[in-house]
Amino acid sequence: MNKLNLFLIYAALCGAAAPAAAGYAPDFDRGVDVRAAVRAAVEDAASAGGLLPPAPGRAEGPVWVTMEKSAAASLDGALFKTAPVAQSGRLAVYEFDPTELGRLADGMHRAMRRAPGFIAHDTLEEALEDLKAPPAPRARAYTLDQAARVKKLLPLVREESIVSSIAWLSSYKNRYYRGATGVEASKRLQREWAAYSEGRPDISVEAFKHAAFAQESVILTMRGTSEPDKVVVIGGHLDSIAGYGDNPAPGADDNASGVAVTNEVVKALVEGGYRPARTIKFIAFAAEEAGLRGSGEIAAAFQKQGVKVEGMLNLDMTNYKGSDRDIYFVSDNTSADQNAFLGKLIDSYLGYTWGSFDCGYGCSDHASFAKKGWPASTPFESTYEQCNPYIHKAVDTLAKMGGGAAHSVKFARLAVAYAVELAK
Ligand SMILES: [Zn+2]
Repeated sequence: MNKLNLFLIYAALCGAAAPAAAGYAPDFDRGVDVRAAVRAAVEDAASAGGLLPPAPGRAEGPVWVTMEKSAAASLDGALFKTAPVAQSGRLAVYEFDPTELGRLADGMHRAMRRAPGFIAHDTLEEALEDLKAPPAPRARAYTLDQAARVKKLLPLVREESIVSSIAWLSSYKNRYYRGATGVEASKRLQREWAAYSEGRPDISVEAFKHAAFAQESVILTMRGTSEPDKVVVIGGHLDSIAGYGDNPAPGADDNASGVAVTNEVVKALVEGGYRPARTIKFIAFAAEEAGLRGSGEIAAAFQKQGVKVEGMLNLDMTNYKGSDRDIYFVSDNTSADQNAFLGKLIDSYLGYTWGSFDCGYGCSDHASFAKKGWPASTPFESTYEQCNPYIHKAVDTLAKMGGGAAHSVKFARLAVAYAVELAK
């Protein structure tokens, strides 16, 4: 057990104004009581961290990064060892040492306030593919006719269980994709999700292994009863980052909050005995902060396997209410039709206020699915300018969000409505 965990136990159990350690001021007692969740989490988060190599036998070769030339120009030139190897329009491809991706992410966050704002590829071929315009999603008919089901399931979304999920996810030193605690958080999530498959043979959980880094993505599949080959994806990134390397990065908002919302949707659907007609895959993506690597590999695997993705809902930062309206949709590199459908779901079932904003290139995991021609959307916590100012720092904690998860509840309720109306 490391010092951070001991400190978390102290802060959680004593509820005392403990002295700040390494920039931390966690105070899980301000909102809902999550002491049991924190106790359970720290029993599990036992390692002191440290970086891990990629899978044994894999030589860590170069990665190929696509990003906007203007973004690259705003960064420290020392980050780039060579000139772009290819370019087209506003985008360029750069060769990178994979161990430098954290430094690139940190540079982008500092200079551009973008996270990550680039896409990393294992091969040059994939990177060159990204310079082309993505195929447009085929037109889909979106309908709302499941009101009774949606209204039955919505009350099963509960703030206290979202708080518990954020608490345990953010109790690790970090969930860095190359770090020991990033792996432990993934293993814990696999166990949490495996529990949902008890008595539900239609539910299975798998760890998606990535050859190039140690953290595994986690996929919970709820198999469809009548159209199992059609797939709805709901998820968000599991990893966290602060600076780069093995730094304290609780990532409570970015993005324990998105994983917690994803978990809450699974929980509500299971508790409500809901069985979708189409298959739903709930995914916690590894390595988003290093250039959408987890979601990029999964979307590529889905394409190769011929998976028919009917829609993808990406949850990345849901718990900090920085703007007037409740939910803001990312309008670029997403599906306008699906965004409109989500707006209708809000208007019909939830009554929240909503808006939209542009997020830029390589903004989050929706981009990995959008570039395959699948409808993808990201409902976000605020406008980009007004998002949580503590992200990518050791102070991205639940306490900094008031200790509760009232804002995340809105996203979980929206995701429940989306699941029921799209997977019917
Ligand atoms: Zn994020």
